[in-house]
Amino acid sequence: NQLVFSAVQSDPDKNPTRKKARDDRDENDEKSDEDSDWQSNSRPGENIGASSTSLLGEQTPLKDILPGFEVRAGQIDMVQAVATALEESRHLIVEAGTGTGKSLAYLIPAALYALKEDTRVVVSTHTISLQDQIRDRDFPTLRTVLERPVSLRIFKGRTHYVCMRKLNQELVGVGFGTPADELVAYMGFLVWLTQTPEGNREELSLQGSAAEIWPRIQSESETCIGKRCPFFRPCYYFRARAAAYEADVVVTNHSLVFSDMKADHRVLPRYDKLIFDEAHHVEEEATKHLGEEVHLLQCLALLGRLVRDHGRHGVLPELAARLDGSAARAASALSAIHRLMEGIVELRPLVERSFVALSRLIPRGQAELRLTDELAQNAQWLEFENSAQEMEQVLLKLEDARSVVEDAAERETEEDLTGRLFDATGFLSELSTRLMTLCRAGELSESWVNWVEVSGNGDKRQVSLHRNPIDVSRILEERLFDAKSTVILTSATLSMEGKFDYVKHQLGLRAAEQAGKLASLSVASPFRFERQALLCVPNDVPELAKMTTEESAAWLGESIYQLARASRGRLMALFTSHAMLRATAQVVRDPLKSLGFEFFAQGLDGNRTAVLESYRSHPDAVLFGAQSFWEGIDLPGDQLTTLVIVRLPFTPPTHPVTAARHQRLEAAGKSAFWHASLPEAVVRFRQGFGRLIRTVNDRGVVVVFDKRLVSTRYGASFVRSLAGVKPFVGPEQKVIERVQEFLNETR
Ligand code: SF4
Repeated sequence: NQLVFSAVQSDPDKNPTRKKARDDRDENDEKSDEDSDWQSNSRPGENIGASSTSLLGEQTPLKDILPGFEVRAGQIDMVQAVATALEESRHLIVEAGTGTGKSLAYLIPAALYALKEDTRVVVSTHTISLQDQIRDRDFPTLRTVLERPVSLRIFKGRTHYVCMRKLNQELVGVGFGTPADELVAYMGFLVWLTQTPEGNREELSLQGSAAEIWPRIQSESETCIGKRCPFFRPCYYFRARAAAYEADVVVTNHSLVFSDMKADHRVLPRYDKLIFDEAHHVEEEATKHLGEEVHLLQCLALLGRLVRDHGRHGVLPELAARLDGSAARAASALSAIHRLMEGIVELRPLVERSFVALSRLIPRGQAELRLTDELAQNAQWLEFENSAQEMEQVLLKLEDARSVVEDAAERETEEDLTGRLFDATGFLSELSTRLMTLCRAGELSESWVNWVEVSGNGDKRQVSLHRNPIDVSRILEERLFDAKSTVILTSATLSMEGKFDYVKHQLGLRAAEQAGKLASLSVASPFRFERQALLCVPNDVPELAKMTTEESAAWLGESIYQLARASRGRLMALFTSHAMLRATAQVVRDPLKSLGFEFFAQGLDGNRTAVLESYRSHPDAVLFGAQSFWEGIDLPGDQLTTLVIVRLPFTPPTHPVTAARHQRLEAAGKSAFWHASLPEAVVRFRQGFGRLIRTVNDRGVVVVFDKRLVSTRYGASFVRSLAGVKPFVGPEQKVIERVQEFLNETR
């Protein structure tokens, strides 16, 4: 599509198997200190499985490095399976229970394989926190035990790195009129730049003005001028990219893996061996990143960066003023810049009208709506289509002017002016790509879901259009499992009742299985859950789903108060709904405080990181969390002795993508509940349950306030997934006595 102005980058790596050969190096890469080592790293004929096992077996050097390190049979099984999959070019599903030490179990064979074959292995995580953990804890261990040079790198999405040219440009505009909070934010960025080794936004805790400024100073392909940039050599993004091209093991994230797949592999260095950790998120991430989305606020921000304040500010008015009467080569583009300014002014109301019309399609009380043929005669839809058609015409006109400006930017010799011209064309490209997605909202297909979402209120009201594949299994089969020689999927929760059927079906692994190219392994946790954990289900609890939020909160508040008293705080409650969390927090906060327990609730007392930090620093506290608290939280020992699960974590089937998937299953004669809702909820439940026992010495209680766990046929699927833990079922009063008794045995 000629309206999609995406910058085409050269393919930096044409040979996936010879990582360090000079002829396949990206032209932007710089020579690495490690180049001289690479020949000696290779040990032809080495058995990766045996070498890896020796590093984790009885003679492991880790005993001297990591205090309390124990040889774990499950970890060794996993190491061997990973090594075999890499060497025999097969795919592998490996579920490794909590405490297996799974990151070392894949990193060691991955590093040895990369060194032996002079190739690279890519590891992908879902969360930044796991990446940080690998960098801070596992990389140093690996470097010590391998006893030979190994290059291990973290590579994040481009927008995580600062663009120094843009920051420099922003600073030019700072003056007496700049608000004080922005001045402080800019000073903070400058101080940070003197210290940061990676120029990565995770090193900053961005809030307020700094968070608002970041999108204007982040690295982006559309506005990057590459070698013409005065900051090219020290550029953090290009240095990270060059390091990733040189690395033996590159750790990145699922979103980048799928963005790379969508961009025909122009984002990551070429690879043939991939390991997904936190693989239970692969379907969700593939659905999101192989699809498209466009948000009203993003479009307005881009329009504002081009022209704002009635044409007084923005990159286009700035360029127009600069080129007016100038002798610069780019002055020939002045009339094109004026045409662009007029076009942007014309576009803004069309963009707003289109999004407003889409948002009005959504019935009151709903947050999302799938676009279907049934809307064809709806007045709001017709309004949207008219605006979209006009928008397309304006975008076509803009394209001519944009290419004139781009040509001028190519010819311009003044660095700073070149940068601003490319900023303008880059913002236009990005805007055009997004708006073309918006214009295609009516292109419906049986395989894709087009849907609209509204959220927030007032100035923060967000309207967005999304387009996602209903079934990613075909895409993944073709572009991942057929295209790569080894893909390893690992997580603590991939199976249901010991079987991997759900994940195989969901991710498109059936063909690989039939071809004998798929192995699987379940590694039991070294923890003795049946002894270390007590699972309780009060059987006299009311059905919360049949009560109002206030009634449920009143009842839950009282029950959680009693439990917190029995366990002396150290309690975390996991909710499935923010509304229920807030209502219960209101009921329970003061009574808990009167008992001397600190209380923290996600969203009410801070974000996830803040409330977790507060909870950790108060030994007898009570913590409430919703969705993101069900996984990735590590509270070992006495930090958490009682975990409350308010309801079984079923996702409501109302979301357009979920609903479309369910419809498809039902149309194929399969029950959406048994084939989709239940396996997904079991995985989530196991993740939540997994927050309790984090070390071999932990003991604790899980109380589930949802009788369906023991009163329904499907409830048994949840219980059977808990490694032998049998529920204690009884009236609530008995449950509290049993909890007290169990915890007293521990004390
Ligand atoms: S090279 Fe590109 S990303 Fe890096 S500072 Fe320059 S413009 Fe920004």
